[in-house]
Amino acid sequence: MAGLLFILSAPSGSGKSTLVSQLRSMVPNLDFSVSWTTRAPRGSEQEGREYHFINREEFERMIAANDFLEHADVFGNYYGTARTSLVRAAARGNDLLLDIDVQGAAQVRRNMPQAVSIFILPPNPDVLERRLRNRSRAEGGVDESVVQKRLATARQEIEKYHEYRYVLVNDVLERAAEELSAIVLAERSYAEAREGGGQPENPELHRARTLARQCLLENSAERLQPVLASFGFSL
Ligand code: ADP
Ligand code: 5GP
Repeated sequence: MAGLLFILSAPSGSGKSTLVSQLRSMVPNLDFSVSWTTRAPRGSEQEGREYHFINREEFERMIAANDFLEHADVFGNYYGTARTSLVRAAARGNDLLLDIDVQGAAQVRRNMPQAVSIFILPPNPDVLERRLRNRSRAEGGVDESVVQKRLATARQEIEKYHEYRYVLVNDVLERAAEELSAIVLAERSYAEAREGGGQPENPELHRARTLARQCLLENSAERLQPVLASFGFSL
C-alpha cells in the first residue's frame, strides 16, 4: 500500500458525507480522518465518529502545540486535521481520506503536493439549496440563516474548483460514488506502477482508469460548463 492522501472538498450540502460513506463501503484500506471542530454536533453525529467536538480554548491549545496538519475557520468555527491521522493511517498501511474545506486543501497541497485532490460540485444552485434544506429538516428543523450562509459560501468555494486534480458532479449518487471509487483505484495503480510493482491491467482496472481519466480537471470542460454557468461562472 502506497500511503496515498486523498483530499475531498465540496460546498456544504453537495453530498460529500453521503459519498464518503458510499466510497468507504466500496474500497478497502481507506481510513477517514476524523477532524476536530468547535462547532456543535448536528443531528445524530457522535463524538469521535463524524468529528471530535471541542471548545475554542482547547482548539487554540492544539494550534499552539502544532498538532494540526491544517486548520481553518469555516462558517465561524474552527475545523482541523490532526497530524496523528496521518501517522495512524501509515501505521495501519492504509490510505487516508481528508474531508476538508478549500482553505485546508490549499494548505495540505502546499505541504504535500503529491496529495490527490478531488472537488465535488452540486449540479446547480437549486439542487444545492434543496439538499441543504432537506438535511436541515431531517435533523430537526431548518435554520434559515445557516442555509443562507452556506449557500453564499458555496459560490466562493466553487470558484476554487480548478485548484483540484479531479472534479466530480454529484448529480446521480451512484454515478458519483463510482467515479470516486474509480479515482482511488486508478491512483493506487499509478502509485504501484511508479514503485515498480502493481497488477497488470485487467478489465476492472482498465474501467477504473478510464472513468478516472474522464474526471481529471483537464478532461472535464464539457461536463462542467453547464454546472459552472448555473453558479454564474464561465470556464
Ligand atoms: P455534505 O456532506 O456535502 O454537506 P450531505 O452528504 O450531508 O452533504 O448531503 C446533503 C443532503 O443531500 C443529504 O440530505 C443527502 O441525503 C442528500 N444527497 C446527497 N447526495 C445526493 C444525490 N446525489 N442525490 C440526491 N440527494 C443527495
Ligand atoms: P460541516 O460543518 O458541514 O460538517 O463542514 C463544514 C465544512 O468544513 C465542510 O466544507 C468540511 O469539508 C469542512 N471541514 C471539515 N473538517 C475539516 C478540517 O479538518 N479542516 C478543514 N479545513 N475543513 C474541514
